[in-house]
Amino acid sequence: MSGSASARQEATSRHHVTAATDLQEPVTIVGAGPSGLAAAITLARAGRRVHVREWHSTVGHRFHNDFQGLENWSRDGEAMDDLAALGARGRFFHKAVFRGTVYDTRGRAHQVRSERPLFHLLRRGPGEGTLDRGLLEAARAAGVEITFNDRVREVDGAAIIATGPRRADVIAVGYTFRTDHPDGAWLALGEELAPGGYAYLLIAGGRGTLASCMFRNFHNQAHHLETTRAFFTRRLELRMDEPRQFGGYGNFHMPRSAVQGRKLAVGERAGFQDAFAGFGIRTALRSGILAARAIVENRNFDTLWRHEIAPAQLRGLLNRAMFERTGGAFLDRMVRRASRGDAGRAVGRAYRPNALSRLAAPLIARAWREPANQRDCNEPGCGCVLCKCAAWRKEPQTC
Ligand SMILES: Cc1cc2nc3c(=O)[nH]c(=O)nc-3n(C[C@H](O)[C@H](O)[C@H](O)COP(=O)(O)OP(=O)(O)OC[C@H]3O[C@@H](n4cnc5c(N)ncnc54)[C@H](O)[C@@H]3O)c2cc1C
Repeated sequence: MSGSASARQEATSRHHVTAATDLQEPVTIVGAGPSGLAAAITLARAGRRVHVREWHSTVGHRFHNDFQGLENWSRDGEAMDDLAALGARGRFFHKAVFRGTVYDTRGRAHQVRSERPLFHLLRRGPGEGTLDRGLLEAARAAGVEITFNDRVREVDGAAIIATGPRRADVIAVGYTFRTDHPDGAWLALGEELAPGGYAYLLIAGGRGTLASCMFRNFHNQAHHLETTRAFFTRRLELRMDEPRQFGGYGNFHMPRSAVQGRKLAVGERAGFQDAFAGFGIRTALRSGILAARAIVENRNFDTLWRHEIAPAQLRGLLNRAMFERTGGAFLDRMVRRASRGDAGRAVGRAYRPNALSRLAAPLIARAWREPANQRDCNEPGCGCVLCKCAAWRKEPQTC
C-alpha cells in the first residue's frame, strides 16, 4: 500500500478507535492467551485501565505443559525482546536452541545450526514455569485486573478480542513424557508422520514432548501420531516414561480487517498464525502489543499490522501454497539449504517478502480470506465476541 493510501485509510477509520483513546475509559480484553495478555500489559504500562476477562479458571488451559518453540526467524530482532519489554522474560522457563537434527522426507538426517538462537524452547499450560503463567504474573505486576471463569459473549465499549482459534486449519497431537534421553531438538518430515506438516521431538532436563503437527488428514491423527512415536523411538532409541497424550488446533487466514467497530481482533482470533509451520506465539504477542499501541497512540490498527505482521503472514501462506503444489521436494530443498549454511538465516529468508510474494500478495490474500461465516461486521455498535451479523445479515441480532 502506498504511503498516501495508508495515511488516507488511517484517517478514514480513525473514528473507530478515537473513543477508545478516552483515557478514563477502561479497555476490555477478552481472552488471557499470549495476545490478550501482551495487549493488557502494554495498555496498563501506558497508564490505561484494563480488564481481562478469561473463559476458563486459569491461563493456558488449551495446553498441557508441553514444550513449544518461540521462533526467532520470521522477522528482524530477537523474539525474546518483546517478552523482556513486557516484564515476563524472567518469569518462565526458556532455553535458547541453536542446533538440531532434521530428517528429510526420505528419512535422511541433516544437522542444522545457527549463530543466533533458532528458537526459544518454552512450556505452555497452566503449570508453574510456563509462558502462560509468566505472562499472567507480569500482567498482575503491571496492575491488570483479571477475571476468570467469565465466558464473554458481548462487550461494551473499547475492546480487544483475543479469543484464539475459531476452527482447525492445523492440529498437533502428541505426548509429554519423562525421559533420561539427552536434551535436543529433532524435526521429521513426511506424509506418513505428519500430512502437510512435520513431526517434532523436544527434550530438556528430563522432560520431553513428541508430536505430529498436521495440516490435513486429521481423521487419521492416531495413526500419524503412532508412526511418529515409532519413528523417534527407533531412530533415537528413545524411552518415554509416564507418557500423556495431548492435542490442540490452530487457525490461520488473511483478515480483510482486524478492526470491527470498536473492537480490535488479535492473535489467532484475527487469523494471525504461521500458515506454513504453525508457529503462532510470536505473532500473537506482536499483534497484542500493536493493538494496544493503536489505542494508546490513536492509530489505525489495520495500518499497524499490515505493515508489521502481514509480510511474514503472506510469505507463510505462499510457502504453504508452494508446498501443497510441489510436495516434499519443496521441504527437502529447504532442509538442504538450512543444513549447508546458517539455518536461522536460511529459514528467515523463507519468511521475508520476495519478488514472488509481492507479486502474488493480492492473490494470496484473496485465496486465504477468512470464510464468510467467520467474518465480523464493522458496525461501531456491535459488541459481539463471535460476530454473526455478517454471516446472518438478514437477522443482525443473532450474535
Ligand atoms: C499443540 C500446539 C502446539 C503449538 N506449538 C507451537 C509452537 O511450538 N510455537 C508457536 O509459536 N506456536 C505454537 N502453537 C500455536 C500457539 O500456541 C498459538 O498460536 C497461540 O497460543 C495463540 O495465542 P492467542 O492469544 O491468539 O490465543 P490462545 O492462546 O488460544 O488464547 C485465547 C484465550 O481466550 C480465551 N477465550 C476464548 N473465548 C473466550 C470468551 N468467549 N470469553 C473469554 N475468554 C475466551 C481462551 O480460553 C484462551 O485462554 C501451538 C499450538 C498448539 C495447539
